[in-house]
Amino acid sequence: MARYTGPVCKLCRREGVKLYLKGEKCYTDKCAFERRSYPPGQHGKQTSFRRRRSSDYMLQLRAKQKARRIYGVLEKQFRRYLRIAEGRDGLTGENLLIVLEQRMDNVVYRLGFADSRAQARQLVQHGHFMVNGRKTDIPSYLVRSEDVIGVKTTSRKTRYFRDRRELLGQREVPAWLSLNEGDLTGRVLVLPTRQEIDVPVDEQMIVEFYSR
Ligand code: SF4
Repeated sequence: MARYTGPVCKLCRREGVKLYLKGEKCYTDKCAFERRSYPPGQHGKQTSFRRRRSSDYMLQLRAKQKARRIYGVLEKQFRRYLRIAEGRDGLTGENLLIVLEQRMDNVVYRLGFADSRAQARQLVQHGHFMVNGRKTDIPSYLVRSEDVIGVKTTSRKTRYFRDRRELLGQREVPAWLSLNEGDLTGRVLVLPTRQEIDVPVDEQMIVEFYSR
């Protein structure tokens, strides 16, 4: 599946908010947004975020782009998630964020097995994880409640996961997941509610964008 491969710090500067796409670096003073908190491009500095026109369309577009960028999803797949969200009971916008949270790479990141969703995606693609005992190397796989996500037995011996063990538990694991640090596994207790999803996105704007 295709993915964005350009400079990611540019995306934070474009959205005018830190999207935390680079793991540890995002929490240091090396963060590009901390140093240059204006949009990228030749005229970025003159076009401060406050001065930018904020039509309804612009706000809706930015909300949609921000969500796509946080979860590392391209347009076609994002639309697919919207269709899944529309088919579920409840508010489409909230359902959309729940579907995005269900992505396997997001769950690996949320459990603390990776510093960023991009890193989690790579780990999943490289076949280091299993779902309910079966190897799953598809980052877009949507987990369900009661699924158990675990590091493959052979991968546990790798240096990455030996070092990772020490870091597990340092980042708070959301209440809808449970982490077994000793066993390098995590369980989906239940699908999250909107209140449990800490992404700074106005999901209603996204729905309005696609309803135009
Ligand atoms: Fe965004 Fe992280 Fe880059 Fe800072 S370091 S601009 S938060 S991706």
